[in-house]
Amino acid sequence: MNMKKYLATIGILVGILLLGGIFINFLISSFSSMFEVVINIIVVSLVSIILFSTFITSRILHNKKVSSSLMSINLKIVGILFPIIISIASTVGIPKNYIRNIYVKLNNKYIYSNKYNLRCEDILVLIPHCVQKNSCKLKVTTNIDNCKTCGLCNIGDLVGLKETFNVNIFVATGGTLARKIILDNRPKAIIAVACERDLTSGVQDVKKIPVLGVFNKRPNGPCVDTSIDILEIENAIKFFTNTK
Ligand code: SF4
Repeated sequence: MNMKKYLATIGILVGILLLGGIFINFLISSFSSMFEVVINIIVVSLVSIILFSTFITSRILHNKKVSSSLMSINLKIVGILFPIIISIASTVGIPKNYIRNIYVKLNNKYIYSNKYNLRCEDILVLIPHCVQKNSCKLKVTTNIDNCKTCGLCNIGDLVGLKETFNVNIFVATGGTLARKIILDNRPKAIIAVACERDLTSGVQDVKKIPVLGVFNKRPNGPCVDTSIDILEIENAIKFFTNTK
């Protein structure tokens, strides 16, 4: 579903580029033909890059074999095109989260195509505050160990994960605090749990550290009593530490 919407958005982008190229050609037809050649080369190059990237994106998301370096190049292309794709999507009524979801998946596939051998202490797990039960008054944002593991939300599971793997787990109330936690802890890898919007900006913000994005589940709507697939986080820790 997300891929179809993504393809539709790319189709519109390519259409705009081609129509724009024809329009500019028409406008400058009275000038030197050199202009026309330059414009045509630019349009054809852009369309070729976009189509190439879309082909690679489709292969990656359909779990076809794509080399890590090609994934990296494609991620950069999609990252550059991202603001344009998002604007087109929202203009034609495609939810932005569909496009963000594709971007985070491309990022994750690229990270998973590499090999890591990190210590647990070098991994930072960032959790959004909305995972904590709304009615719970314990201050887990300062220290996750303040949780009494009552079982009403996933914070208790995360305390167990922290004890088992000795990873750093923090609950962040927003992007600013998340950035501060990253600066203070200087991790070598990050496992970030959030919604599509926050994960996309997080992945784009943190350039030099691999960030695996894990989508939270939102059965009660956004930002309230969200939940996490703990196994997904555990598998991500095992991936970064190269343990089974
Ligand atoms: S698991 Fe911890 S954070 Fe969640 S409601 Fe219970 S005590 Fe509060």
